[in-house]
Amino acid sequence: MEACEAVEREISKVITKFSGIKEDSSNSINELISILSLYLASLRNLEYNSKTPEQQIEELKNVIKKCKSKVQTISTEHRNSHASVSKVGKAIDRHFTQDYNNESITPYDLFESDKHIEILNQIIAEHFYRQGLNEVADSLVTESKLPPEEDIHLELFADLYQMWEAITHKNLTPALEWVTQYSSELEARHSSLEFKLRRLAYLQLLQQGVNSQAEAIAYTRAHFNKFINRFEKEIQMLMGCLIYLPSGYGDTPYDSLFSEDLWLETADSFIKESCEIVGVNKDSCLEIIVNSGCYALPALMNLKQILLKNRVSGVWVENRELPIEIDLGSEFGFRYHSVFTCPILKVPTNENNPPMRLKCGHVISKDAMHKLVRGLLLKCPYCPKESGVSEAKKIHF
Ligand SMILES: [Zn+2]
Repeated sequence: MEACEAVEREISKVITKFSGIKEDSSNSINELISILSLYLASLRNLEYNSKTPEQQIEELKNVIKKCKSKVQTISTEHRNSHASVSKVGKAIDRHFTQDYNNESITPYDLFESDKHIEILNQIIAEHFYRQGLNEVADSLVTESKLPPEEDIHLELFADLYQMWEAITHKNLTPALEWVTQYSSELEARHSSLEFKLRRLAYLQLLQQGVNSQAEAIAYTRAHFNKFINRFEKEIQMLMGCLIYLPSGYGDTPYDSLFSEDLWLETADSFIKESCEIVGVNKDSCLEIIVNSGCYALPALMNLKQILLKNRVSGVWVENRELPIEIDLGSEFGFRYHSVFTCPILKVPTNENNPPMRLKCGHVISKDAMHKLVRGLLLKCPYCPKESGVSEAKKIHF
């Protein structure tokens, strides 16, 4: 964060400098124009012809001299501006690791095969589809020759994402329509989402001033009744707001209700709950990968240095897995395992021998499953439950 702030400081210096230069340059250019216009006018004047050639030359020389000095001022300022721009570059070099390309973090090339590159492109395309940027995603799919995307989840998420975006732009209509459509599902979950959205709609009415008082009261009567048992305190507070409607909410106990945080929090609750109800993942793969990658990067850099120093970097190459466990912090809420070791055969699973989830919920490798199967049935080695081989599902790590 400190590094970003340092670079940001340099950037704001450049912006200030540029606006100064813009003003000075346009002044200089205007002066230049007026010098030339004056000279042009004098050329057209009859008086000019009465001057001796020497006088005419002297006059021209004077004009050229003035023009030159103005142009010089502009070009000096322009040259100086480069210095402040290059300071930004230097600040970036100073505060960030220069180039990860030259020095790969892993000892092997992650994108060595076309398959890996295809997966990467697919993840990026999915991310665009999720955000409703269909045109961009379509171009990527065509240009990288990916199979056309038919995942219905992407469309579902794109719709929800647009509603989320609308909330952040203070437009509650699409989200309110959605909660009305899914009210029974929300109720079954004891969700507070509809209340949160209705609360914002009511506060939005209050912000329109005293003229909207009747409308605001009508809104509470229409929509808050069903929440009275669960949100009694909150509703009391919302009603209390009416007292200050004529005088405004600055320096009142209700001021915090009008903060931007409430909008962001509600928008986040919306995307979380709606994704859970519709059954799509809230986070895109790309987002998860980039976030966890940024988090893990410093640890991996340190690790690489240590391995190099002790000349044991081969450890990493042999196993093709991270030699240490990296805590992704509470930010992500769960852990990621890139490797699953079969508890029966004690070998890591791979594409040919993937982990399989049995009907009872226990996971073993496909090879182990085939070893344990009797006829078409399989007895779980961890619980006595029997299930069909066809009921086992492949799990992706
Ligand atoms: Zn079991």
